[in-house]
Amino acid sequence: MAHHAQPIALVTGANKGIGFQIARQLAQNGAAVLLGARDADRGSAAAKELLAEGLQVTFIQIDITNAQSIAAAAAQIDTAYGRLDILVNNAGIADYSDGAPSVAALDAVRREIEVNFIGALAVTQSMLALLRRSDAGRIVNMSSSLGSLTLNGDASWPFYDVRLIGYNASKAALNMLTIQLNAELHDTRITAVSACPGLVNTELSGNRGDRTPAEAAAFVVQLALRREEDRQGVYQSEQGALPW
Ligand code: NAP
Repeated sequence: MAHHAQPIALVTGANKGIGFQIARQLAQNGAAVLLGARDADRGSAAAKELLAEGLQVTFIQIDITNAQSIAAAAAQIDTAYGRLDILVNNAGIADYSDGAPSVAALDAVRREIEVNFIGALAVTQSMLALLRRSDAGRIVNMSSSLGSLTLNGDASWPFYDVRLIGYNASKAALNMLTIQLNAELHDTRITAVSACPGLVNTELSGNRGDRTPAEAAAFVVQLALRREEDRQGVYQSEQGALPW
């Protein structure tokens, strides 16, 4: 956690699913939370629910595929707080027209890369100046074990048959962002981590997950608030480190 009295945290895609629970739990842990959502109505309603619980949560409009929206969010955070301590790149999509390499719809693959990778990269670029002003800036990229190149090539892995070329590639690319950020920022106080929340019961998973969003969020929040870490071992599931 930051040395500053109260950590300032931004969570993208926080109007529902895992992101909503991350926002709630970060606030329960004392953070001032900016609840990011692309849709103002959905975002305000989610923030209102958490405010009613007595939590310090503010809705912030941020569509991670829209440069103007991202820039406006960064400017708003700068004006309100002048820094950012925790960035959770949580917003993401899975497209049902994705599939195995031989059949995946290219538009679906493009959309997944655009949101899950380029979106997270764009938000990170815009928030870096604010993160540099933190005593201990932390970037949590919401990845997935499906982004592991090693596991995708391991026939004994339980998800070996989940062949979603677009989604899996987008999370592998997001993992590359984690690795390169840590390399580029090694002489700063900012660290990045890739988190796999497990298979979680949300719209994105088709409500197939065996974990609740709140359970998944607890693990992610723990990573977000963790003070020190090995910059090399930064691809984590609740069971431990994952192979890149
Ligand atoms: P979810 O319930 O579908 O929530 C996804 C969130 O992302 C929503 O708030 C959605 O907003 C937002 N979003 C989508 N596109 C956006 C954009 N362009 N700009 C801003 N926000 C956008 O999914 P979830 O399961 O909680 O997923 C959260 C993250 O965890 C994702 O990165 C996902 O890949 C990752 N993950 C999930 C699982 C799982 O089993 N569920 C497993 C591994 C990793 P709208 O409501 O406006 O659509």
